Amino acid sequence: MTATANRYTEPKRSGTRRTCPHCEKYARIATSQAQSPLSRMTWYQCTNINCGHTWVEGSMVMHSICPSACPNPNIYIPVRNKESAE
Ligand SMILES: [Zn+2]
Repeated sequence: MTATANRYTEPKRSGTRRTCPHCEKYARIATSQAQSPLSRMTWYQCTNINCGHTWVEGSMVMHSICPSACPNPNIYIPVRNKESAE
């Protein structure tokens, strides 16, 4: 399927995809707001007009996989690679 064929049938998707927890159709991000450098709240809208669900989710940085080359001295994020998680 080409990008042109999808243009009018599916909403434009950003890098983060989410589906509605009720109808499992695509949901779009209405807005989001940083709560801190490590956490964010995001408002979602289901694109299924027969559902109409809107909700808020929270997300936070859990750990780093590879540490930053320019770390912020005011932020601590534990580093866990695949081996340490097992
Ligand atoms: Zn829905």
